[in-house]
Amino acid sequence: MNNGEFMQLISNLRDLDHHQRKRLSATLNQVGDEAKVFDLIESCIEANSACPHCASPDLHRFGCAGGLQRYRCQQCRKTFNALTGTPLARLRDKPKWLSYLAAMKQSLTVRQAAVDTGIHRNTSFRWRHRFLSWISQDRPPELKGITEADETYLLESGKGKRNLGRAPRKRGGSATKRGISDEQICVLVARDRAGQTLDFVMGNGALTKARLTSALKPKLAADALLVSDANPTYTAFCDAEGFSHETVNLSQGQRVNGAYHVQIVNAYHSRFKQWLARFHGVATHYLPNYLGWRRAFEQHPQMEPEILLNVALGNFQYLTVT
Ligand SMILES: [Zn+2]
Repeated sequence: MNNGEFMQLISNLRDLDHHQRKRLSATLNQVGDEAKVFDLIESCIEANSACPHCASPDLHRFGCAGGLQRYRCQQCRKTFNALTGTPLARLRDKPKWLSYLAAMKQSLTVRQAAVDTGIHRNTSFRWRHRFLSWISQDRPPELKGITEADETYLLESGKGKRNLGRAPRKRGGSATKRGISDEQICVLVARDRAGQTLDFVMGNGALTKARLTSALKPKLAADALLVSDANPTYTAFCDAEGFSHETVNLSQGQRVNGAYHVQIVNAYHSRFKQWLARFHGVATHYLPNYLGWRRAFEQHPQMEPEILLNVALGNFQYLTVT
């Protein structure tokens, strides 16, 4: 571009509307991000340097495809690149990944993130869930010591499904039945006093002992002390499995029982619901991703786009726990 054309381009910028300005700014950022993203992806394979098919370290370079170095394994003869076997394999538009992750850091909706990044909203949706797939691996293996647990309920949402079996609710909507019914999804949150948190989507309707057992039993240390409200399901679970148990009778106005309460988990529920409201009702199928996203937010609040990309590529050593 010669100088005259460039000056013309600059003067044309004055006529941009708000959205065009955002798009331009995103495009300029992406030009700078392109090299960064490819470097980051390639550095993964240097760090791991093993075949994703057979784990052999005997690799040869084998040309380039899609801007990425290809490798061939000398053992199994299969070819691959740094993204093979990761949730990000075959996603396109790599130069836009960092600005997309910046939009995720701001908890933008699928639609807003699409506009900010300059991608289609279906792409935005697909990327969101691919970039979140790591969170199912970032769960503490075991809760220890005093552990609060409490359930909360969210309205079931078949958003995006073709056959709902009922008239769709507009933007989340409200339940038609009073109290806890099959229209609601039970979400259990458990947190120990070291701040380790686990969330579980427990299915439709009220909490049952069988579901509680399958969720919590493998995740509670043998010497854990479970604190819950007076819901007898928790008592039945602890009696059957031999866990120590303390309760607070919230319905009778008892908020604290000595050192025991469920206020930390209750506060977590309300922060989660408040944050979730911006998404206008997420499909129940994707609820675990949103729970995990929120959990990641709380555990790693300083997660910059580059870090998030590293983590999405499986490099968990970039996570700092606060
Ligand atoms: Zn191999």
